[in-house]
Amino acid sequence: MPICENCGGKWSWKQTVKKSFTLDTGMECPHCGKKQYQTVKSKKRSAPLLFIVTLPLLLNLLFDIPGVVLLSLFPVIFVVLMSTYSFLMELSDKEEFMF
Ligand SMILES: [Zn+2]
Repeated sequence: MPICENCGGKWSWKQTVKKSFTLDTGMECPHCGKKQYQTVKSKKRSAPLLFIVTLPLLLNLLFDIPGVVLLSLFPVIFVVLMSTYSFLMELSDKEEFMF
């Protein structure tokens, strides 16, 4: 779970997922209220997770999977993805840029 760089407070899984959904790059710490940003390192680490999203589509190309099964796969993958993502997340006081 991510730890706030400012106050050292640990974010819960629920808080992390909730914060990840905001459009703003900065995420307010639930403990001290200071804005935290995801580090580039953890962004890079979580990038391969995006490939998992395309997995059902890939499976569909290889095998003849019914659309219903395929659609029901998406929520499962989404939950797995979000939980893994929060474990990989690292926080920083300052915003870091990829390039
Ligand atoms: Zn904090």
